[in-house]
Amino acid sequence: MMGIARCGDAAIDREKVMDGMPKRLEREEITRQVRQQLESYSAAGVTWLPHATVAPFQLADNEERMGKTRTSPLATAGSLFAEAETGPAAREKRLIELRQLQERVARCTRCPELAATRTQTVFGTGPMDIDICFVGEAPGADEDRRGEPFVGVAGQLLTRIITAMGMRREDIYICNILKCRPPGNRQPKPDECRNCREYLDQQLELLRPKVICALGATAAQNLLGTSMSIGRLRGKFYEYRGIPLICTYHPASLLPSRSPEKKKDVWEDMKLLLNRLGKPVPGTGGNGSSS
Ligand code: SF4
Repeated sequence: MMGIARCGDAAIDREKVMDGMPKRLEREEITRQVRQQLESYSAAGVTWLPHATVAPFQLADNEERMGKTRTSPLATAGSLFAEAETGPAAREKRLIELRQLQERVARCTRCPELAATRTQTVFGTGPMDIDICFVGEAPGADEDRRGEPFVGVAGQLLTRIITAMGMRREDIYICNILKCRPPGNRQPKPDECRNCREYLDQQLELLRPKVICALGATAAQNLLGTSMSIGRLRGKFYEYRGIPLICTYHPASLLPSRSPEKKKDVWEDMKLLLNRLGKPVPGTGGNGSSS
């Protein structure tokens, strides 16, 4: 222990002694000091010394002082990965995976009743890397027939809401919690929602929306894992797997035969959504209730 302490002292002394000394004399001085140090160890009864090691952090520190930038293999891999994630090739890969997922869904029979009664699965429509992904409950009769979500009367109202927001339906992704129509448009059963969740999660992961908007209680409660009413859930932001999520009433509930007075609440929610995206809120006549 004593030897180690002295070794540290010697290093400090050496710096002082060698300051401004010519190279040849500097080497001689180092040799002299090392010999002297070893002799003192020997006199103290030290018969061996461990191999000197350079700790990784010391190496990094030294290289930094020398003006070198150390990049760890992990950091390199991380940056390459990030680049691949955002590059055109990665986007193409995601698109292919989305199509493969759609094909898997088309063959799915996890919910025997739904698989036996559907005309076809309704995967979802819209581009990738969108600002908004609307998630509804399940396909109805029109959607089941056409293989597209929100194409019935409620879908037409949703299109008007999107237009009132100053956006185009084709720039938004629309899908449902369930990819198959429940017979007679009954409410989805909990086990059916659970069966289909894996598909929705993968779909959202590949789509990468900036915001998710859950339409109606079934979508909101399933995504947020709550039994709270949509009236209480709406009007604020939550997070679903790292993506901001807002809930609002299902367009079907805004139809004249149900609760058209809730359109103003939906518009308030859409304004929040637009604000979140940093988009302008269209002024007059944009409450989603016209035409
Ligand atoms: S609802 Fe989803 S999980 Fe159930 S059969 Fe259809 S695709 Fe499969």
